Amino acid sequence: MSTALRDGFGRQIDYLRMSVTDRCDFRCVYCMAEDMTFLPRQQVLGLEELYRVAALFVAQGVKKIRLTGGEPLIRQGIVGLCERIAGLPGLHELVMTTNGSQLVKLARPLADAGLKRLNISLDSLNPARFRGITRTGSLRQVLDGIEAARSAGFQRIKLNTVVMKGRNFDEVPALVQYAIDHHLDISFIEEMPLGEVGRHRGESFCASEEVRQVITRQHRLLDSTEESGGPARYMRLQEHPQTRIGFISPNSHNFCATCNRVRLTAEGRLLLCLGHENSIDLRGLLRRHPLDDGPVLEAIGRSLQRKPWRHEFSADGEVKVLRFMNVSGG
Ligand code: SAM
Ligand code: SF4
Repeated sequence: MSTALRDGFGRQIDYLRMSVTDRCDFRCVYCMAEDMTFLPRQQVLGLEELYRVAALFVAQGVKKIRLTGGEPLIRQGIVGLCERIAGLPGLHELVMTTNGSQLVKLARPLADAGLKRLNISLDSLNPARFRGITRTGSLRQVLDGIEAARSAGFQRIKLNTVVMKGRNFDEVPALVQYAIDHHLDISFIEEMPLGEVGRHRGESFCASEEVRQVITRQHRLLDSTEESGGPARYMRLQEHPQTRIGFISPNSHNFCATCNRVRLTAEGRLLLCLGHENSIDLRGLLRRHPLDDGPVLEAIGRSLQRKPWRHEFSADGEVKVLRFMNVSGG
């Protein structure tokens, strides 16, 4: 039986984001510190546990699941997990956010497994800068991965760019052109103050409004009422209507009133809001009740009553949440 999940403010929760690993082959400057300690493997949810959580949420009315991380494509068994989750009756859409490094080999198997859409992070088109931002990443590998994804037949591919002054703000026009030339969407993201990453984020903070102004020097942007079920506001380019430009502005624009999602961290905590520490330990419940979903469902229902109304991020870059983004999943 499907029962809609509602939080204490009456918002319907129909979107679950699952971090399938906290590990990553990159060390992006906005996401991680240079030296990271990752979770011991036994603390990370197993594939069977991830599937069980997905199935429970879909049975409760969740329509969309996003797999993220860390880097979801370095998790062993990810393609099989996608296939099983995509097959859950009632789920409308299984999507993923990836850094693209493994797509040359995995794009086709993922599309065949039933993954509908991909978000691929791309912060620079300059190899040295790309390396500087990701610390370990190869631009060539990611661009080849994007090509592989384009030919694998996904319904939509969107690029994600975290914009930082002094790092990639001047590349906004080139990134828009890349998206146009390759028939992709692109979202520009304001950096969020999650985790102590060893630099002061306020100095490089770039508001979405500044990005929009730069784009309007070359393109006519048309307002779009399109909804992706996520936090991005979309615009279209008058001359290139196939490309959508998204702005994700957690600091300068609050989208909490229509929040429809919760997150599962890699260690199995159900996180009620990215900007708060409120969470429950689902892993403990799953392991204590391997054959009985009742106590797990009850705890999920109760926890939703504690979902905060809004996050408290602001443009000063001050860290209010100590958790790194790779733990909770972007
Ligand atoms: N590894 C995958 C990737 O990079 O696409 C998925 C996980 S990553 C945490 C998900 C998204 O969060 C990426 O688009 C990344 O750029 C974004 N992100 C990470 N840290 C962020 C931060 N502090 N502020 C804003 N976006 C961030
Ligand atoms: Fe890895 Fe994604 Fe975080 Fe970059 S943003 S370090 S690719 S998890």
